Amino acid sequence: MEFAVPSSALALLSRLWDAGYEAYLVGGCVRDLLRGETPSDYDMTTSAKPHEMKAVFSNCRTVETGMRHGTLTVISDGVPYEITTYRVDGTYTDSRHPDAVCFTGSLSEDLARRDFTVNAIAYAPGKGIVDPFGGRADLEARILRAVGDPSRRFTEDALRILRALRFSSVLGFEIESKTASAAHALADRLSLVSVERIRSEISKLLCGSFAENVLCLFSDVLKKAAPSLFELGSAYESAVSLAVALPRHELSLRLSALLSPLSTDRVGQALSALRYDRKTADRVLLALWHFHDPLPENDTELLRLLSRIGETGARDRLRLGVPRAPKEAATLLSRLDALLAEGRCYRISDLAINGRILMENGFRPGREIGELLSLLLERVISGELLNDTEQLLRYALKVKA
Ligand code: ATP
Ligand code: MG
Repeated sequence: MEFAVPSSALALLSRLWDAGYEAYLVGGCVRDLLRGETPSDYDMTTSAKPHEMKAVFSNCRTVETGMRHGTLTVISDGVPYEITTYRVDGTYTDSRHPDAVCFTGSLSEDLARRDFTVNAIAYAPGKGIVDPFGGRADLEARILRAVGDPSRRFTEDALRILRALRFSSVLGFEIESKTASAAHALADRLSLVSVERIRSEISKLLCGSFAENVLCLFSDVLKKAAPSLFELGSAYESAVSLAVALPRHELSLRLSALLSPLSTDRVGQALSALRYDRKTADRVLLALWHFHDPLPENDTELLRLLSRIGETGARDRLRLGVPRAPKEAATLLSRLDALLAEGRCYRISDLAINGRILMENGFRPGREIGELLSLLLERVISGELLNDTEQLLRYALKVKA
């Protein structure tokens, strides 16, 4: 069986073989090639020790990403490739990192340290597939199974529990029963995993095509991984069905849906507990700002929503409404586009009047002007006033008098 592999990757494999070492593609890329998908990156594994790799690639651009763990990044035709020496991980005392890593000359030993059978397959053009743990059969049966004893593997590194859930959500694979039982039983150990890793896995899990199943079957595990996100009591199921009805690639929308049963304070706390970046957090908070209010009923209410939470916020709020009120929300989304295309006024900066003009007409700088501009904006949004300098000024003077 041969696969189409980029020539820049093939060149690196050939170099290592030509120098007398073994070298294979491994992990996610082989899994994806066997599934008929195009891999996003190509990791390699080799019998060459780190210093031997450096010698083989001495005339290439390299980055010493993790030489202690045996990884060298080699740039080939501008593309970076991670190449790692065959490795056996030592004992794990902290459920996160092996105490030591030892290099080995054996590919099967390297494959044995990998997390799931479908990730423990190696392939080299001309040499074929190396698959000591039945990964190909599991791929065909769409099963995610730990390599070796799942309890031992999850105890070694608790992150693997979340990786199992994430792969299941993204690939739609069923988690094999012993692997699943170990995930449930050892979920407490997720407290040992760093917040960044938990956030990264949960974000990918939430955006999986098969997220619903995993979110429902493993809610106990997820509560241990990120209590602030998943402790939603009786609202959990409906929040999950809303989240999975939203577009798959939109993490902030799916997060908003999941957090929709919570108060604004708790949404903020949940996002900062997982150290989501400011931009994602703000986007979620804005989308949820008016989530529990009825959808706008007319252009004026739509413009008011726009003025309060901005274009992205309003669009997100309406899209959150799509699963439960598809027709209504779709109509509002197209009205929103139309209002924006018409250049309708919804921000103070859109008004045909500003602080300078008001000051020139005797208004005091500061709060008076700020409050007046907000009032004028509201009158324009409601259609009581035209967005016209003279009319706005006349109204302002009348209010003052
Ligand atoms: P993707 O890149 O699509 O998320 P992947 O399988 O390539 O999936 P990576 O995190 O890139 O995942 O890891 C590459 C490979 O390294 C995996 O396929 C697996 O063989 C191994 N691996 C990664 N993390 C672990 C881990 N925590 N425990 C054991 N093996 C792991
Ligand atoms: Mg990968």
